[in-house]
Amino acid sequence: MTEIRLHNSKTRRKEVFVPLDPGNVRMYVCGPTVYDRAHLGNARPAVVFDVLFRLLRHVYGAGHVTYVRNITDVDDKINARAAESGRSIGDITEETTGWYLEDMAALGVMEPTHMPRATGYIAQMIAMIAGLIESGHAYEAEGHVLFAVESYAAYGALSGRSVDDMIAGARVEVAPYKRNPMDFVMWKPSPEGLPGWDSPWGRGRPGWHIECSAMAADLLGDSFDIHGGGNDLMFPHHENEIAQSACAHPGVEMAQVWMHNEMLMVEGKKMSKSLGNFFTVRDLLEQGVPGEVIRFVLLSTHYGKPMDWTEAKREEATATLKRWYAILHRHGFTARLVETLRQGGQWQADAEFAGVLANDLNAPGAIARLHVLSKGHTAPALAGFAHGLDMLGLVADWDRLGEMAGIAAAEQVVPDWVGPLVEDLLARRQAARAGRDWAEADRLRDLLNAAGVNVTDVGGGASWSPGERFDPAVLEALR
Ligand SMILES: [Zn+2]
Repeated sequence: MTEIRLHNSKTRRKEVFVPLDPGNVRMYVCGPTVYDRAHLGNARPAVVFDVLFRLLRHVYGAGHVTYVRNITDVDDKINARAAESGRSIGDITEETTGWYLEDMAALGVMEPTHMPRATGYIAQMIAMIAGLIESGHAYEAEGHVLFAVESYAAYGALSGRSVDDMIAGARVEVAPYKRNPMDFVMWKPSPEGLPGWDSPWGRGRPGWHIECSAMAADLLGDSFDIHGGGNDLMFPHHENEIAQSACAHPGVEMAQVWMHNEMLMVEGKKMSKSLGNFFTVRDLLEQGVPGEVIRFVLLSTHYGKPMDWTEAKREEATATLKRWYAILHRHGFTARLVETLRQGGQWQADAEFAGVLANDLNAPGAIARLHVLSKGHTAPALAGFAHGLDMLGLVADWDRLGEMAGIAAAEQVVPDWVGPLVEDLLARRQAARAGRDWAEADRLRDLLNAAGVNVTDVGGGASWSPGERFDPAVLEALR
């Protein structure tokens, strides 16, 4: 079994990953707040943790990984958007959620096992808050419920800050009802006209942090394996999640491993609307940049380092992927061939590729290995190459490789009668081989070659595709 090692933000070390239950490996990643299109920076964690999801499924089995990525659909930014646009909150969150899923799908991001919406878990949040009040970790003040950071000795351990440093560094005005300036809101009152739910503390709505603690516990249990997100969430969001969960579930750790991806820049500068270098995933897709190219660029930098989106990288990614798709296309890779390989037990990861990727999700190293594999000619090398591309989520459609490689569709038009004829020739070649009639087998192979048909031998059978020199006229004579 491939050994996975992950850099744990909590211990600041790279550690061998040992799941609590290999039969159900559990991961939680903080998802989007749905009020606007996802920008490129929002796409980075979605893609990074999608690769980790794929790696975990590869190592532990597809049915043995549970991945939760939440949708924050109650938030002051959403309320503000509704107020300024005159649209209902429900319309905005529903439309934006749809956009997010569409855009992430275009980047090859698989749907997580669960995508809970915060508004569906208000009862669980209220129950958790009530429990924290009862155990003395939270208090009610002026319709708010606040978490008392002094009640949790390890507060600040994840981000490595002491409460005193945080107070010194905080420049915000401190609400008078807070006992300690760092105490954070778990519940706040909602006036008429804003989303609100009845609670023991009056009509109100949750603070942001509590939703992740409540949903993770409900869907993954009090203690699970991996918690991920962007490093901008480490403080205060993740620190607060840990405090709430640790105090609600004493004796167990919320997550064994905490992972954080670094931020994204554009041409060496922080992406911002004021610099004019701010763009959404949709902007790029509409400019004609394929989702796989965006994904490739995002993966070409290790998740633990700042990622710089540049035009040069986009061009290089486009050229590389076209070359790779052309190789697979020439060797007859189709959805059917992949399925055949899978059934024949030949859909295998290249061991070196898997080992590199499993070393703290070293996607750039894995891409370097794909460059080597792309030059291989043996069937296992090609299968490993294709499998690796699949594991990085870089093939959107195995039946569109030629098109994705930029090989004109007109060159790929195959008359209807060709398929049965080629299948028949392949069957005859197979029979000739079985009967050790090598001359006949070679004659049939040469014939297919002359017609520009690519043949890939797989698991006792053969798969074919029209190559770049495909010429149906050569086969015409045999009809
Ligand atoms: Zn969260």
